[in-house]
Formats: sequence, C-alpha cells, structure tokens
Amino acid sequence: MNLKILWMYHDLMDLYGDKGNTAVLKVRAEKRGISCIVDTCSIGEEKNICDYDLFFLGGGADREQSLIFEDLIARKEQIRKAMDENTAFLLICGGYQLFGKYYKDQDGNVIDGLGFFDYYTESTDRDHRCIGNIAVQTTMDGETFKAVGFENHGGQTKNVSTPFGKVLYGHGNTFDDGSEGFMNDQVLATYMHGPLLPKNPKIADHIIQRALKKRYGHVELTPLDDTIENKAREVMLKRLNAAD
Ligand code: GLN
Repeated sequence: MNLKILWMYHDLMDLYGDKGNTAVLKVRAEKRGISCIVDTCSIGEEKNICDYDLFFLGGGADREQSLIFEDLIARKEQIRKAMDENTAFLLICGGYQLFGKYYKDQDGNVIDGLGFFDYYTESTDRDHRCIGNIAVQTTMDGETFKAVGFENHGGQTKNVSTPFGKVLYGHGNTFDDGSEGFMNDQVLATYMHGPLLPKNPKIADHIIQRALKKRYGHVELTPLDDTIENKAREVMLKRLNAAD
C-alpha cells in the first residue's frame, strides 16, 4: 500500500511551516508500513494531478496568491477530474481562499478563485487582520474533538455552506461569525497553520484515511502513541481557555 501526495506550489505557498503537514503525513503513514511519496508541482510544471491521492495547497500572502492563481486556474479541469476520481484535498489559508469564488485584497484587486465552492473572501483594511492562536471544535468521522492552530489573514470568508468547525478561541472565517474553514467529504480547508497536522494528529489520520480511500477503500489505521502531541495541544487549549 502506498500514499501519493502532491504538494502544489511548495516554493510559494508555505507560510508558517505548512511544509510540516506533508512531513507529518509521511511519518504517520510510514509508521504503519504505508510508503509515502511527496511530489511537488509549481508554476508551469507538468504533473497529472489525478495520479495522486492527496492534493495539498498551503497558505501564502496576497503576493504569492497573485503569482499562482492563473496557473492554478489553468489546471481547473484536471482538478475537477481529480475531485471526480475521489482525490482528497487539504487546503490552508490562501489555498483555501483560492478554491472559492474570488479573493479581494485590501486595495480592491480581485483574484479569481477556482469557484468549486460558493464561498468568497474579501479583505478588510491593512490594520485589521485575524492574527493569533486559534482553537476550534470539529467533528470528523463522527468524532467531536478540539483542534489548535495559528491564523493570520486579512481575508474574511463568507457564504461557507459547511464549515470545518466552531471557533472556541480566535476568529476563523471572519472576525466574529464563529465558524472556521470549510469541509465536505473530500476537502478540508482551514485557516489553521501551525502547521496544522503536527499539533492535531487526529486530523492527520483523518486525511491519511481519506486519501487512501481513493484507491484502497476504507483502511483501518493502527493507533500511534500521540502522548506528546496531545500534551502539547492540551497546554495550548488551557492557555486559550478552551480546555474541557
Ligand atoms: N492573503 C490572504 C489573507 O491575508 C491569505 C494569507 C495566508 O495564507 N496566511 O487573507
């Protein structure tokens, strides 16, 4: 069994250590005897997205988003095909925004998104950004738990039909609507950097399982010892007054 990950725009969309997400997926897969390939793809590179089980796009500031969006949109039909073929998607912050209708920056410039989902993102002025640690309650595969991360975005994402979770501390999709990210059966899109997965091993395993489903159906994952990861998360939840 193997897991094939495509990390898109690795050289431009890698804010706050998003790279750590791919490292965690690889280690957690390999500990279960599942070999893992992480390939990268940047502007102008030929890659067949459909060959992969997981499409990963990290965060990037407005500048990086404006550099990649045309290349991303040129791949729209291939991404749609990958969706139809049951590929899993992990999208962080700037990557999350680009799967919606559009992103409007603080100067009013609009970058088209892929438009796969109905949400859209508009930035407020430079002095108002959602910055800091964030705690979120989410339900994945019927299990409700708390996740922690770090957010830094000016964009306010609205019209999200199915959020990833409920904000316990921090901002999330907008300053104050209380929802965070977007999630459906095959896409997890979130403002949470951190990077996300080292701090939240349950989410990492959910992504691995979802990605493997494409070629192998349901795969039961052997539990790993996450004592240290869980302790680190508990410390942050306590600090944010979001612990049980
Ligand atoms: N440019 C976006 C914003 O500020 C995304 C930033 C990010 O990926 N951290 O809203």
